[in-house]
Amino acid sequence: MKTIGLLGGMSWESTVTYYTKINEGVKHTLGGLHSAKIAMYSIDFNAIEKLQHTGDWSATAVILAEAAINNQSAGADFSLICTNTMHKVADEIAENIDIPLLHIADATGEALVKNKTKKIGLLGTSFKMEQEFYKGRLKDNFELEVVIPNEKDRKTVHRIIYNELCLGKIAGSSKAELLQIVERLGSMGAEAVILGCTEIGILINHGDSEMALYDTNDIHVSSAEELAIQLNR
Ligand code: GLU
Repeated sequence: MKTIGLLGGMSWESTVTYYTKINEGVKHTLGGLHSAKIAMYSIDFNAIEKLQHTGDWSATAVILAEAAINNQSAGADFSLICTNTMHKVADEIAENIDIPLLHIADATGEALVKNKTKKIGLLGTSFKMEQEFYKGRLKDNFELEVVIPNEKDRKTVHRIIYNELCLGKIAGSSKAELLQIVERLGSMGAEAVILGCTEIGILINHGDSEMALYDTNDIHVSSAEELAIQLNR
């Protein structure tokens, strides 16, 4: 089994779910007392969040590249950035390590193409919904048409992520708001919606909406598991 390198702490609320789900998956597949081989570096999200909101992405890249190098030194065979947003600096991180980086947008794009989805709604932080680093990758590499919520809804999603989910707060009213936004994406023509924030699945998930929901946390975890134990399902 290969060792999975996790860059965590963004936020730790979602890193916990990566750690749990990867171990559950390995146990399910290999049985008995099997558990995943993981090297994890969990950073202080307070620093990253401040740099994100002042636009100093190159400083975030320095912090995350150092964390990725540490994971590599600890024996990781490949690396995962356990958040969508910080894939903005995925190239800078990848340049600093010799092991592969399992990109969350590629894992998600592959799942969508497999299900023949063409037009997809995207939920996540404003950075990710509004900038091209993630949407562009889905368009260019997977020929997906991406629709995003209107400005008011984007602000709502961003607020729920940073002021609630990253702090472990679960509010029924926010769940209802997110589900309404999912519906509005459907009325804009989206065939399915990407839960493009690794914490959103804590609040809404399959069964909460008639729309198909693609939880990037689940998808990223499954790809890591497959690569670690070399499954070709
Ligand atoms: N984990 C979230 C994401 O998937 C948001 C936190 C962050 O900005 O990294 O985008």
